[in-house]
This record gives sequence, structure tokens and C-alpha cells, in this order.
Amino acid sequence: MKVLKFGGTSVGSIESLLLVKEIVEACEEQVIVVVSAMSGVTNELLAIVDEALKHRHADYTSRLHKLLKRHQSTIEAVVPREAQFQCSNAVESFVNDNLQPLAEMLDVNTQLDGSMVEIIRNAVVCHGEVLSSAIVSCMIAGAEPHFAPNFIKTCITGDAMVLDWKNTEELVKKEFVGSTVPVHVVQGFIASDFATGMKTTLGRGGSDYTAAIIAAVLGARQLEIWTDVDGFYDSDPRTNDQAKLIPEMTYEQAQKLCDAGAKVIYPPTIAPVAVRHIPVLVKNTFNASAPGTLIN
Ligand code: ASP
Ligand code: MG
Repeated sequence: MKVLKFGGTSVGSIESLLLVKEIVEACEEQVIVVVSAMSGVTNELLAIVDEALKHRHADYTSRLHKLLKRHQSTIEAVVPREAQFQCSNAVESFVNDNLQPLAEMLDVNTQLDGSMVEIIRNAVVCHGEVLSSAIVSCMIAGAEPHFAPNFIKTCITGDAMVLDWKNTEELVKKEFVGSTVPVHVVQGFIASDFATGMKTTLGRGGSDYTAAIIAAVLGARQLEIWTDVDGFYDSDPRTNDQAKLIPEMTYEQAQKLCDAGAKVIYPPTIAPVAVRHIPVLVKNTFNASAPGTLIN
């Protein structure tokens, strides 16, 4: 079994989603597909929260409408005809019945305290991955959709919100062990507080971490991070045209590069897979035949 994580640009357009479909359907073993929100959507949801807090009803409503249209036009292009109606209705209901009322709550209730605003902000921001995963699970025939906050759990330790490993491990096993379904689809990034059930996140860029957690708990054969670059480079390829791709590195080397600001992988991702010796392959969705970077 492999865990494949697709980032925001990989699920961000019709063309890229069709590549994702090809990559997943070519797998000859069971796969768990972890997805980010479509590119730009998490930032857009945060902007919607800010506009609602400033009582700009027309502005956040129009942004929500554009968000819905973007997802619906994507569905028309990538989801098989027989599944389009159901998928489109689900997406419409997430936007109109969940997101719009949450934004209105922020707009209308001027007395909300900081912690209440934070709870609503998290509930809003979780929808990026909810929407993208709805599309990906409808796009791939026979894929089984899952809801990450049911099994990715956080807890408060001191002042910080951290992953609740013990409960997450138990719940991830319950969710997946014994299943023979060939393709599972899970939202990256989003979680819930074990004690209260409130929606939480694993931090910006946290979808990689979700994939690593699932791969580690289930002892996956490999974790694949599908992104929009060929892998790790020895310097920034955007500013240095002499930058060389690194074909293979150790977990320690990868951790150092991530900590130093290489944007390829979210830093907390490495530890759980390193401990269990699960190889991580970084691959480019837009150049799938390139070998990528193997971390082991
Ligand atoms: N959608 C989230 C973000 O933009 C998580 C992720 O993409 O990994 O930070
Ligand atoms: Mg990322």
C-alpha cells in the first residue's frame, strides 16, 4: 500500500486533475490519496473570514460565489457524467449551507470573543480540502471518500495545539485496516480536537504531514509527495539556473533542507516516516516521468 499526496497546484486546475487521475489509476496496489485544497483556496477562505469580520457582506458573498463556480466548472470537466450531479450538489451545499452561514455568523455577531472567532475561522478554512476531496473522490471510479477530522486528532498541550498521536493512531487503524478498497481519498491539513470535536488544522502546508501520519500508522510501502517541482535541488532553481536536482538523500538531509526553508515538504512530515523507515518519493505531477527525489 502507498500513500500519495497531491498539493494545491496538482489539484488546482482541470489539466492537473486529469494528470492526478492518470497517476492514481496507474497504481497497481492499494492507494490512499491525500489532497490539498485547490491552489489559492485556503488563502481565499481566510480572506472571506476577514471580510466577514469587517461586515462586508457583498464582498464575501461574491467571493463565495466565485469559489463555488470554480469548483463546479472543474466538476463539469473532470468528473464522469453520471457522478456530476451528485458531486456538484454536494459542493453547492458545502458553500451555501455551511460556508455562507459561518461567514454570516462572523458578520452579524459583533460580540464574538477571540476564541469563538478562531473556532469559526478553522471551520471555514477546513472547507478547502473538503471541496477538493469531493472532486477527487468523484473523479476516480470506485474511490472511497473519508473525512479526516474523524481520525486525525489534535490536542492542546500547554499553549500549543499539537497532533494527538495516540488517538490518531488508533482511529487511523480503525478507519483503514482490513479495507480492500483500491483507492481511498482523504483531506490533508484538516483535523479535529479530540476532546471537543471542534475543527482544527495541522498548520499551513500541513497536508504533507497528514499523508506522513497515515503512511506511518499503516506502515505504507512508500509515501509519495506529488508537487509542481521535480524534487529537492541543491539551491533554489527559480533564482539559480545551475541548480541541480538531488536524486537521493537521507531523512536527516531532507529534514535539514526543510528546516532551512526548502518549500518542497512541510517540516514535521519527515519524522514520522523516518522513524518507521518508510521511503518518501517527491514527484512532479506535471512531469511524472522524471525520477524525482527519493528520501530514505
Ligand atoms: N491547504 C493548506 C494550505 O494552503 C494545506 C496544504 O496545502 O498543505 O496551507
Ligand atoms: Mg505544500
